Amino acid sequence: MYLLKESLSQQRKSMAFLLVFAFLLGIAIISQGAIIAGIIDGVFLQDMAFSSIFPFLLILFGVILVRVYVIYASGRTGIKMAARTKDHFRKRLLQKMAQSSLHTSLDRQSGGKVSILMDSVDAVDNYFSQYIPRLLQTALVPLMILIVVFTQHVNSGLIMLVTAPFIPLFMALVGIQTKKKSEEQLTQLEAFSGTFLDSLQGLVTLKLFGHSKKQQNRMEESSIGFKNATMDILKVAFTNAFMLEIIMMLSIGLIALEIALQLIIYESLTFFTAFFILLLVPDFYLSLRDLGSAFHNGRASMGAAKKVEEELENTGDSIQWGDQKISDKKMPPQIELSDVSFQYEPENFVLEDVSAKIFPYEHVAIVGKSGSGKTTLLNVIAGLMKPMQGTISIDGHSLFEHQEQSWYKHISYITQHPYIFSGSIGENIAIGLPDQVSQADVIDAASQAGISEMIEDLSDGYETIVGEGGRGLSGGEKQRLAIARAFLKQPSIILFDEPTVGLDLQTENILQSSIQKLSKNATIVTVAHRLYTIQDADRILLLENGKLLASGSHERLMTQSSTYAGMVDAQLRRLSDEGTFDRH
Ligand code: ADP
Repeated sequence: MYLLKESLSQQRKSMAFLLVFAFLLGIAIISQGAIIAGIIDGVFLQDMAFSSIFPFLLILFGVILVRVYVIYASGRTGIKMAARTKDHFRKRLLQKMAQSSLHTSLDRQSGGKVSILMDSVDAVDNYFSQYIPRLLQTALVPLMILIVVFTQHVNSGLIMLVTAPFIPLFMALVGIQTKKKSEEQLTQLEAFSGTFLDSLQGLVTLKLFGHSKKQQNRMEESSIGFKNATMDILKVAFTNAFMLEIIMMLSIGLIALEIALQLIIYESLTFFTAFFILLLVPDFYLSLRDLGSAFHNGRASMGAAKKVEEELENTGDSIQWGDQKISDKKMPPQIELSDVSFQYEPENFVLEDVSAKIFPYEHVAIVGKSGSGKTTLLNVIAGLMKPMQGTISIDGHSLFEHQEQSWYKHISYITQHPYIFSGSIGENIAIGLPDQVSQADVIDAASQAGISEMIEDLSDGYETIVGEGGRGLSGGEKQRLAIARAFLKQPSIILFDEPTVGLDLQTENILQSSIQKLSKNATIVTVAHRLYTIQDADRILLLENGKLLASGSHERLMTQSSTYAGMVDAQLRRLSDEGTFDRH
C-alpha cells in the first residue's frame, strides 16, 4: 500500500482540487434541491406568475451546469492522477526489471511479468479515477446535506443519521472479502497469462514433442481458474449492490413516511421544507452508495498495487542471493578467497591455492613479476573466471554457486585496455547504468576523472563518436574514461589494473588522484606497478609463479620477504635511473 500512499502524497495539488470540487458539488446539490422545491412551491401553492419564476429557472440551469462540470472536472483530475501514477509504476517496474540480475529475471514466467506490468498497473487506475474522488465526495456531500436537513427538520436528520452508518459498515464487511478475492483473481490472471505466453513461445517445441494436447489442457485449466475467480468477484459485487440498494430504499421510505405524517397529519411542516428534504435525501444515500461501488473498485486496485509492490520488492539495491539480502550497496562486502586455484589450459600456468581476505574499504595491491598471475587473480575476484578449486565468498556467500548479475552492479573493473564501444563519449561514460543518467552527472563524472577538458576541446564535445569507426582514444584516455564510468556508477568495489606502460606525468597524477577519490567509498583491489600505489596500500599480496608468496603491509613485507624487498629495490633503482625518483 505504500506505493498508493506515496502517489497520493506526491499529488497533493490534485487532491486539493478534488476536495474543492467535492465541496462545490455539495453546494450544487443543495442549491438545486432548494431551487426546485422553491419553484414547485411558488407555482402550485403560491400561484406565482411565470415571469417571477423565470429567473429561478435560469439559476437552476446554472446550478445544473455547475454540477455537471464539477463531476466532469473531478473525473478528469482523477484520471490524470491515475495516468501519472501508472506511468510512475511502469517506469519503476521496468527499471527494476532492467536492473535485476539475470537469475531473478528468469526466475518467473515472462507472461506473468507482462501481466503485472500491464494488467496489475491498469487495475490501479480505478483507485484514482473513482475511489479517491468518490471518497472525498462522500466525505463532504452527505455531511453537507445532513447539516442542511438538520436545520430544516430534526426528525429526518435523525433518521438519516441512524440509517447512514449501515451503508459503510456493510461495505466494509464486503470490501474485506472482495480484496482477498481480487488478489486471488489477479494471481489467476497472472498464471493464465504466464501459461499462455509460455505456450506460444514454445509452440514449435510442444508440437515437435507431441505435447500440444497436454499444454492445451493446462491452458484450459488455468483459464477456468481465472473464470471462476472473476465470477466469484462478480457474485460478491452484485450481492453487494443489491443489498445496498435495499438499505437505501428502506431508509428513503422511512423518511418519506415520517415527512408525510408531519406534513399531512400534524401539519407541522411547510410544503417547501418537506419537498426540499425529500429531494435531498436520495442524493444523500446515492453518494453513500456510490462510495460502495467505488470502494469495490478501490479494493481491487489495492490488491493490484500490492502485486506491483511485491514485484518491486523482489530485490532492492542490495546484493541478493536468492531470497537473501547479503549486503547493502552503501557498504562494501567482505571478499574472501579460500584455496582458489585457476588454470587457463592444462599443463600451463596455474594460479594455485590463493587464500586472502579483503575487508570493506581496504586498499589491496597485488604485486609480482610479469606473468606471475596478477591479472588472472583480479579476473577471478571480478567473477569473470571461475576457479577450478576453492571458493570466493562475498559476505560469506559463494560467488560462483549463484553467480549473480547483481554482483556486477557493485563493481567497477578498470582494465588496462578498457572497452570502448562505438557511440558517443557521453554514452560510453554512462554505459551499464540502467537509469536515465543526466548530462550533468556525466559531465561531473568526467571532470572528476580529469577528462572533461579534453572532451570539451573536441568539436562535438560529449557527442563525439568514439570506438569502432569513430575518433581514437589513447590508452590513458581510455582509462580515464573508465574511471569516469566508475565515478558515475559509484561502485562499492573497484578493481583496477594499473597501466604498465609509462604514461605522461599529468595522466599519472590524474589517475592516481582519481583512484584515491574513488577509494573513499569503496574497497579497491589494484594490480600495482607503481611504487606509490604499493606503499599506500593497506595490504599487499605478493604473487610469484601463480602462488601467493606473502601478504601484509609494505613495512612488514620489507622485513619479512626478501623477494618483496628485492622487487622494491629494483623499482627504486629503475626510478632513479629514469631520474623520476624525486617524485616519490
Ligand atoms: P600478470 O598480470 O602478473 O602479468 P597474468 O595473470 O596476465 O600475469 O598471466 C599469468 C599467466 O597466465 C601468464 O603466463 C600468461 O601467459 C597466462 N595467461 C594469461 N591469460 C591467458 C589466457 N587467456 N589463456 C592462456 N594463458 C593465459
